[in-house]
Amino acid sequence: MKKINLVLLGATGSIGRQTLDVVRRFRDRVNLIGFSVHTNVQAIEAISQEFGASYAVITSDINFKSEDLSILHGEEGLIELVSLPEVDTVLIATLGTIGVYPTLQALKLNKRVLLANKETLVAFGEFVNKIKTGLLIPVDSEHSALFQLLENRKDEVSSIILTASGGPFRNVPEKELKKVRPEDALRHPTWNMGAKITIDSATLMNKGLEVIEAYYLFGFPPDKIEVIIHPQSIIHGMVKLKDNAFMAHMSYPDMRIPIQYALFYPERLQNTSLREVDFLKIGHLDFEAPDFSRFPLLPLAYEALKRGTPYPACMNAANDIAVAAFLQHRIKFTDIYRTVESAFDRCRGKPTTLEDVEQIIKEVKEYAKEFIQQIS
Ligand code: NDP
Ligand code: MG
Repeated sequence: MKKINLVLLGATGSIGRQTLDVVRRFRDRVNLIGFSVHTNVQAIEAISQEFGASYAVITSDINFKSEDLSILHGEEGLIELVSLPEVDTVLIATLGTIGVYPTLQALKLNKRVLLANKETLVAFGEFVNKIKTGLLIPVDSEHSALFQLLENRKDEVSSIILTASGGPFRNVPEKELKKVRPEDALRHPTWNMGAKITIDSATLMNKGLEVIEAYYLFGFPPDKIEVIIHPQSIIHGMVKLKDNAFMAHMSYPDMRIPIQYALFYPERLQNTSLREVDFLKIGHLDFEAPDFSRFPLLPLAYEALKRGTPYPACMNAANDIAVAAFLQHRIKFTDIYRTVESAFDRCRGKPTTLEDVEQIIKEVKEYAKEFIQQIS
């Protein structure tokens, strides 16, 4: 059986580490050719020794030398790594816009891209969709669920539904939201994820980003992409069929399940280390409508999607800055929305290249920093 020759970008993050955990279970099926880290250069030797990788890319300016493997640097290093002829599969789990460059390169070279990184589709979805080669498989649980539900069934589906846990503040009244601290927001009720995405889950921005990604992945118009709050996070996605029947994808909330699915697609492999859903123990599954007034970033994401490029990129860029400021205790939880809304109102331009989008993102980030300076 042919082994998968994998490159893992963002190997030291939450998705990266869980991917390595899946690879650890299937050593006879996967070769790790190379990986990237940003600041955690101390992890390079351990990862390369355990998985036998020959290349590591450092995307930050940190210096690191190794006698055992080739060290590459920056965006060029990522592109060089994914372009190696022996590489057939690339998993993109970095943070930030840098993920788009290896994604586009791998797709152009007709490789499989397993995409976790959100910015790639949110900010550059139009550009990614222009490339007709390669295979793009989503890693995020909701999109993985929809990818599986829609396969060979797209013509039968009238709308798609993404579920959201509702985050830690699902039942917190509006006036209390001003007072919540980063420590409270980082306590996600069902998923164990990186800090930035955990804050985005608390504001529902994460779901807004996922609606935008779903649009670019599956091509349904914004009014056919629904969000339902489902606190248990057992159902990850649903499709409504033309005859009003629904199909749902369910699993225990563990990112290793969609990571494994993407890695071995179209094969579904047995992995007894993954927990199964105990329906009798859970007893019931609950559903609520998302509260657009307490969590206004979600309706703003729909608005960004309707307006099109560059609005999703502007929104995401301002949110990055606002979330970082909130994590540093510089602004209130509710100021995240204030910052994003203000940047949204100033979003301009008709970008025709990736560089144009990058420039808009840079300007929005500058604006958001100034705005935060004024309000903090
Ligand atoms: P983490 O913050 O846990 O990890 C981020 C990874 O990217 C680390 O390897 C980090 O390197 C690297 N990194 C950080 N900044 C940069 C940068 N500027 N350029 C290149 N690499 C960078 O994030 P997650 O694993 O949680 O998320 C990764 C991506 O996947 C995000 O886009 C997120 O939205 C998405 N995602 C995450 C899910 C989850 O469950 N965690 C679910 C679905 C999507 P280092 O540690 O060496 O500094
Ligand atoms: Mg998700």
